[in-house]
Amino acid sequence: MITDSGDGNSRRVYIFDTTLRDGEQSPGASLSHAEKLELAAQLARLGVDMIEAGFPITSPGDFAAVRAIAEASHGWEQNPVIVGLARAVSADIDACWRAVEPARRPRIHTFISTSPLHMEHQMRKPAAEVLRQAVAAVERARGYCADVEFSAMDASRSEIGFLREVCQAAVEAGATTINIPDTVGYALPEEFGPMVAAIVEALPQGVVVSVHTHDDLGLATANALAAVEAGAAQVECTVNGIGERAGNTSLEEFVMILHTRRNRLAYHTGINTREIYRSSRLVSALTGMVVPPNKAVVGANAFAHESGIHQDGMLKSRETFEIMNPTLIGRPQSRLVLGKLSGSHAFRNRLEEIGIRLDEERLKTAFAQFKELADRKSEVTDEDLEAIAGGAPVGVSETYALENFQISTGNRTTPTATVRLRVADGSESEEAATGDGPVDAIYHAIDRITGVPVRLQDYSLAAATSGKDALGEVSVKLEYKGHIYSGRGVSTDVLEASLRAYIHALNKIVANGGRSRGPQQEG
Ligand code: MN
Repeated sequence: MITDSGDGNSRRVYIFDTTLRDGEQSPGASLSHAEKLELAAQLARLGVDMIEAGFPITSPGDFAAVRAIAEASHGWEQNPVIVGLARAVSADIDACWRAVEPARRPRIHTFISTSPLHMEHQMRKPAAEVLRQAVAAVERARGYCADVEFSAMDASRSEIGFLREVCQAAVEAGATTINIPDTVGYALPEEFGPMVAAIVEALPQGVVVSVHTHDDLGLATANALAAVEAGAAQVECTVNGIGERAGNTSLEEFVMILHTRRNRLAYHTGINTREIYRSSRLVSALTGMVVPPNKAVVGANAFAHESGIHQDGMLKSRETFEIMNPTLIGRPQSRLVLGKLSGSHAFRNRLEEIGIRLDEERLKTAFAQFKELADRKSEVTDEDLEAIAGGAPVGVSETYALENFQISTGNRTTPTATVRLRVADGSESEEAATGDGPVDAIYHAIDRITGVPVRLQDYSLAAATSGKDALGEVSVKLEYKGHIYSGRGVSTDVLEASLRAYIHALNKIVANGGRSRGPQQEG
């Protein structure tokens, strides 16, 4: 039997969130400026210790977003460190500082590769030059900022003697946090733990040792845990585990392991677990990266019990088959809360009770959607409210809005759709089109109205809530001039959800400078 270790001394582990940096590097996950700000504010509410807001040198957009998040941090109740990423070169570090400088607590995070593979093939630099460059970068960063993190990229495939030497030199140059990444997701926990222990031992007390682990072999979370047991005090992770390739350590898994197994693991975090589910939903809605139903902690089925034996056990005592209580991570329960007679006041109150905060503009849109839903569905549950409002489009001006649509389809007819959109200038425009299927037909009709040359890259449909009258949630990815834009739509009617998702993505494209063509300009 697995028993309690009985150790009352719990060590605090810092949660460094990189959803906005490594996570945003996921293919197709790019976020708008307003979306980044919205997500940063939610990460602050979640209680992360550091928010890696971006990689300022990479683009003016990234720079502006990091700077805006740094400025916004003054208005938050929580006080996370705002981090910018920089290669170990002067231009990166200078730009990084200009971006994070306005934060209440700024940090510069600089990195260079230390593995033979990367030094030879990627950088074509001898080890001595890498060491010199690392020291120079940390010194330059310290000239700006008292809080400097140094990462030895591809640390897990580096030679331990050289890795130790670089980390020690970085600390002497002023680095306050040393990060050991398993950049390519190659390490095994029994290798990674001792490697981290060797670095912890080699560095002076007070230096925070951090880890950044990737999930290429499904070991990101196991490696992070092994590192913490070896003395690491900071774990870099992302909400839903998104990130480069197979992604990073998933924040919700790591945090809930420490919480659920606190009888054995004497570590804790500052995370407000009740904000986990909401953060997961927001990241999924904004990035268009749908959470698989079987995903640990936040997946739709993570707390569902299908087998009769399990259900019977659950009725007798929840603990028979449940190791975590879903309310602990803030999952809304499926219960009737509002009906078609509920007013905007009750609607707003219930949203606040389940922790969803919307500004006036979005509240109005969400309330209109709620009224429509209540007309079609006898019971509107917390889950429904969360699906409508939890991922409500943020900061996207509605150039196009759905007015109405009609479709005729069948197994022996060519699907034909008529779509009518309202345009921001007050005009309306209607087009009809055929397609291979009903979704194809409505999308062709929209393309005719907007004239924006987009390509549908990805379409996915999932049930956002349970039951026969479940809400369908559609996520699309549209390609426009080499960039990917995601859109999300929710409705009991899957075709309407498909339309809303497409229009959502189009509005992002137009807001980003894409050409929009109103009917008044035609001819
Ligand atoms: Mn990474």
